[in-house]
Amino acid sequence: MKEKILKFFSGRYGGDELTKFITYVVLAILIVRIFMPSDLLYVVALVLIVFANFRVLSKDFVKRRAENQWFLTKTSGLKNTYTKYKNRIFGKDGYKYFECSGCKSELKVPKKRGKVKVRCPKCNTEMIKRT
Ligand SMILES: [Zn+2]
Repeated sequence: MKEKILKFFSGRYGGDELTKFITYVVLAILIVRIFMPSDLLYVVALVLIVFANFRVLSKDFVKRRAENQWFLTKTSGLKNTYTKYKNRIFGKDGYKYFECSGCKSELKVPKKRGKVKVRCPKCNTEMIKRT
């Protein structure tokens, strides 16, 4: 039995970023359906599940990789923006952000440097900031 299962899954494409994204979309649709029962959402979720499983079980690696690459290209800007803000919010990028008191532009200084004097590159306003 175990060998039959292994044989069935060998040579299959498996999961990738696009499949993961589709899975999250399906999950989001199912959560929305709790509050907004809709047959259309159910059908969309079902179609997406079938498509995701088709991709996972596919043996056409070239087409699946091309689809995944297309997805990654289309979403790279969005992903970079998301990562940038996530790192900022959780302080993982090593900088502290604040607003210039003179021109309201965004400034950043490296963290853990104590009190530092910062000069805004746009309006030359100087400020003392704790990092
Ligand atoms: Zn300024």
